[in-house]
Amino acid sequence: MRIVRFASPQGMSFGVLDGDGQVAQIEGHPFGRISFTGARYDQADIRLLSPILPSKVVAIGKNYADHIAEMKGVTGDAPTAPLMFLKPSTSVIGPGDAIRIPPGSTNVHHEVELAVVIGARGARNVTEEQAMASVFGYTIGNDVSERDMQKADGQWARAKGFDSFCPLGPWIETDLGALGLDPGDLEISCSVDGEPRQKGRTSQLIFGLPTLISYISKVMTLLPGDVVLTGTPAGVGPIAPGQVCECTVEGLGTLSNPVTEAEPVSTAGAGR
Ligand code: MG
Repeated sequence: MRIVRFASPQGMSFGVLDGDGQVAQIEGHPFGRISFTGARYDQADIRLLSPILPSKVVAIGKNYADHIAEMKGVTGDAPTAPLMFLKPSTSVIGPGDAIRIPPGSTNVHHEVELAVVIGARGARNVTEEQAMASVFGYTIGNDVSERDMQKADGQWARAKGFDSFCPLGPWIETDLGALGLDPGDLEISCSVDGEPRQKGRTSQLIFGLPTLISYISKVMTLLPGDVVLTGTPAGVGPIAPGQVCECTVEGLGTLSNPVTEAEPVSTAGAGR
């Protein structure tokens, strides 16, 4: 099932994207037993949002050997255990939303990643054998990263934490198996303005999905809807205002985001 979150004139809802391109509205949230309101929308009449609003995005760095090789000058050798970092909930944007380049930045890169969405039970202290039962579904993530800050800071909260630096979507696929697909072996790619940049397969992950979910769950409780970004293959490169970044994962569609300059909007003095 393809779970989406969308804005319509009636407000925000979750829905199921059908094969005919229509969206069937869901009552409440999509975890557990789904009930439908009966309302259906043409995709042209709604706007898709990030398919989930996670309490946190837990990301894994340096999890493809070819990407470790291309980044050696910035981030060093291969890790001996999963390398975790957090992206703030405020970095999340949806399909079609703009990736906003911070003022003065000239070295912002795309990183296409398979994104795991955690299900209703959450995940705390699960073993590798138990880990996959915690998964609600899969979507595409783009771990947008400011390389100069990543190198200068030594840790990555600033470089990877800007507003808009975590595009997610366009939908959550809850049953890859029904499509004959295995999350452990999906083609994953990224292009910019139609020019191919990244390409890999999730079978190349150094630490696979059960290992990552178990490892993270022994550090912090993964809540329903939390997102795990699993790492990016080689071919990362700069994006600039005016370009369009397209991330594709087999069975999960394409996550397309334009790139713009960040607007210097302040909350100071703003009325509510
Ligand atoms: Mg990454």
